[in-house]
Amino acid sequence: MPYVDCPYCGTGKATAKDGFTTHTKCGYRATGPEAAARYITRHSLKDKNPTGASECPSCQEDALVVDNEGFYCFSCGENWPSNGLVVCDHCGNYYMNKDLTYCPSCEKLLTK
Ligand SMILES: [Zn+2]
Ligand SMILES: [Zn+2]
Ligand SMILES: [Zn+2]
Repeated sequence: MPYVDCPYCGTGKATAKDGFTTHTKCGYRATGPEAAARYITRHSLKDKNPTGASECPSCQEDALVVDNEGFYCFSCGENWPSNGLVVCDHCGNYYMNKDLTYCPSCEKLLTK
């Protein structure tokens, strides 16, 4: 899902880029974490995002949301399919490299 439903009006596709989610049609503009929180509430995604938006493995903003189709970052616009990211057993963040036991920052910390 390269574009997501606008977290504000819900009637069009919003774009996330450079830390902000914007929707030109309705004029919505918010920071990634703010837009992510709104999207979670609007689509009742609390089950999949129990602690709110997660840290994005790409831009490190807390703007990563999981929904039925996959992951979407409301800060940088990166997205992954449902099986595209794994959750770190140690810190609970998502990361991309499935060959690692933990996310890259925990790997560094734990294998010192
Ligand atoms: Zn909108
Ligand atoms: Zn991001
Ligand atoms: Zn970790």
